[in-house]
Amino acid sequence: MTEKKKSDENRKDEGASRNGFDVESIIWGFAEHLRYTLGDDRYSATDHDRFMALAYAIRDRILHRWIKTRQLHRQSDVKRVYYLSLEFLIGRAMTNNVINLGIEPEVREAMEELGYRYEELADQEVDAGLGNGGLGRLAACFMDSLATMKIPAVGYGLRYDYGIFRQKIENGMQVEQPDDWLRWGNPWEIERPDISFPVHFGGRVESAREKGIRIYRWVDTQPVVGIAYDMPIVGYGGDTVNTLRLWSARAAEEFDFDDFNAGDYVEAVSAKVMAENLTKVLYPNDKLYLGKELRLRQQYFFVSSSLRDIFRRFRATGKSWDRFHENAAIQLNDTHPSLTIPECMRILMDEEHLAWDEAWDVTVRSTGYTNHTLMPEALEKWPVPMLESLLPRHLQIIYEINHRFLQKAITVFPGDMAKIAKVSLVEESDPKQIRMANLSIVGTHSTNGVAALHTELLKSRLVPEMAQIFPQRFNNKTNGITQRRWLLQANPPLAELITGAIGEGWITDFSRLTELKPFADDPGFLDEFRKVKKQAKEALALQLQREQGIRLEIATLFDVQVKRIHEYKRQLLNALHIVMLYNRIRDGKKDDFQPRSFLIAGKAAPGYAMAKLIIKLINNIAQVVNSDTAMKGKLALHFVPNYRVSLAEKIIPATDVSEQISTAGTEASGTGNMKFMCNGALTMGTLDGANIEIAEEAGAENLFLFGLKADEAEALIPHYDPSPYITEDEEIRRAVELLFSGHFNFAEPGIFDPIRDMLLGGRDRYLHLADLRSYADAQRRAEQLYRNEPEAWCKKAVLNIASAGKFSSDRAIAQYASDVWDIGPRPVGEDGSAREIIEDARAIQERRTKKERRHG
Ligand SMILES: *Cc1c(COP(=O)(O)O)cnc(C)c1O
Repeated sequence: MTEKKKSDENRKDEGASRNGFDVESIIWGFAEHLRYTLGDDRYSATDHDRFMALAYAIRDRILHRWIKTRQLHRQSDVKRVYYLSLEFLIGRAMTNNVINLGIEPEVREAMEELGYRYEELADQEVDAGLGNGGLGRLAACFMDSLATMKIPAVGYGLRYDYGIFRQKIENGMQVEQPDDWLRWGNPWEIERPDISFPVHFGGRVESAREKGIRIYRWVDTQPVVGIAYDMPIVGYGGDTVNTLRLWSARAAEEFDFDDFNAGDYVEAVSAKVMAENLTKVLYPNDKLYLGKELRLRQQYFFVSSSLRDIFRRFRATGKSWDRFHENAAIQLNDTHPSLTIPECMRILMDEEHLAWDEAWDVTVRSTGYTNHTLMPEALEKWPVPMLESLLPRHLQIIYEINHRFLQKAITVFPGDMAKIAKVSLVEESDPKQIRMANLSIVGTHSTNGVAALHTELLKSRLVPEMAQIFPQRFNNKTNGITQRRWLLQANPPLAELITGAIGEGWITDFSRLTELKPFADDPGFLDEFRKVKKQAKEALALQLQREQGIRLEIATLFDVQVKRIHEYKRQLLNALHIVMLYNRIRDGKKDDFQPRSFLIAGKAAPGYAMAKLIIKLINNIAQVVNSDTAMKGKLALHFVPNYRVSLAEKIIPATDVSEQISTAGTEASGTGNMKFMCNGALTMGTLDGANIEIAEEAGAENLFLFGLKADEAEALIPHYDPSPYITEDEEIRRAVELLFSGHFNFAEPGIFDPIRDMLLGGRDRYLHLADLRSYADAQRRAEQLYRNEPEAWCKKAVLNIASAGKFSSDRAIAQYASDVWDIGPRPVGEDGSAREIIEDARAIQERRTKKERRHG
């Protein structure tokens, strides 16, 4: 017998298998990967090597189900959701995969047997940060819900070599560092060089008449190749494993062929590098459109590769194109993938030879569009000359779409040229620009906003004429978050407390949280909740102490604002209030003061000077406040660097007050607000985005609401004057004066002048001072409740948790599935469930033990 065979025999004797979910098999898998995949022994291996070995062992256990899911979906010709998103803010995968597979106890025990702590290994994983903020995180939550709900789905995105930058703080200022997340390898992805498509750029369009029909050919193009990298998306329970397919750019072989022949080798290699630059880096702007050609190239590369793949899969069914919508529901996450519309038309007409009307029907019926913001600076508008040189055929098609659409628009607004000009896909600027939001509304059967208020404002403010032309297309899908990551995984003690009270049904049916309501009056439960919150605070304090040298006082109220740094999110309102508290303590006012720790974190777009200056201001205030002995134990402020998913998972469970303080009418939904709510933080918020629905669900009396409403803010903006709010309010006047007196920047005179000029010069679109009094009063109410009625505080926190059911991404996905996608679950079934495999493994284990007893 060969050595290899013998060792396999030994393994079988011991009951271990490559797929096994039992402790012994996991140990085996880990050890084998450490040796045969990573080439390590126990002396050379680092913690990161052990993380990789464990990740590979877990991936082995996913693969079986993954392949099975794919087979079932193919064999039974299912309809699939195709979620197209330029961003997926995934964070770490190991803990999520382990929980969803249902093998956490086994993995933990396996690592313990080897003398390692599972948490420490899991902590080695680098976040997959392929997104900016809420939009990218939503895509990740949706993928989790789709798989958990057993809906066949493929997420399509780009495999950026560099994700969202790492933020360092130097001298209080943001410094960006490249996020080389793939440097140590990505154990979850599988490269699929066999799945690759050429994507064309540039060239020109030829047309000819053939048999009385006009034919278009896009020629002389420069191709780039898209290669697929697949990541498994494990549903909770492990039944369905869907795919996240990310494209990476490679030079096409024919790309450099001519240059090589011409002998210019270096030129040819440079061209290759240029092509591969396409997926080099994620654009780090959140809610800001920049008309950069490389970004347009990324978008088209992404759309074209994804559609090729989707069409290839459909062609294999042998069905005719008029049945495409029976197999595919394509969802566009914002306008970033909106070239899907002309690309779909181009392929169907120029390659599949469908007539315009047939192609249009296929395109519109199979696509939906999600709008994410009303902010004018975020709306994508590509210059016509750029499209003309990069995508000439697509520009032709867009013009034809517009021509046909405007004929319809004229029937709705006869003679009203102002309205026709507003709905046109072409903005008559110099140069002309294509409005991608208008294209997305015209070219899809569904346009949705992401919270009730947002959808109303979308219809009434942003595109009222479009809403009149296509009233039936507009619909609301309030965002959600996955409770598997944001509660079960991020906050195990709270998850356990909830499960102990109402059972584990909430994990896959978040509406079951309502069963917690009676526990809001149970002193024992409230006490347990308080302990769980304290535990989370201690864990956060330990981590921040270790990693950032930040010292947190556990006994203080944790007041947290974590999200992208943006003027509309009003981190400055928070800062102004902190200065008011600072003055109160300096004045020696001890009236009911509740000691607080303010945590602020978030990244600013590298080109957004005001946002970066806000970070500097917060850091300078922190420096002064934290080094003032009079503040000790009363007031602390920390800017935590490098906000990301894995950091959010630690901060959110430890939070008492969740700051959701955007100017009403500016935050489309927010999802951070939902994560805090289900972790038992109380919301300090404006009536904006999903805060409104949070208040509806929990009862307004269980939040701290303040500030202008959306219509009031809108009405105020044109004649906003900040001065009366300052002169007529002594406390505000003193805070503003101190803030801009040089007190926080005595060594850096004048640096905050741009902030002062913005806030006080009447150019403040976000009305900070108009809301400051109301904000400070709401903060005062929070302070008094926390200090004087801790029982009542905990009751509100528990009532918030009990009311969070609506904010599951499972609910959001169920609504998309029935209203937009017309799709249902497809269980992978029978032996697919993780439990059954574990039970099989246990049976093997038992047989082994019996056998040992016989032999012993
Ligand atoms: C949830 C989340 C966001 C979105 O937060 P908002 O408060 O809704 O803006 C941004 N970044 C990360 C890392 C998140 O997890």
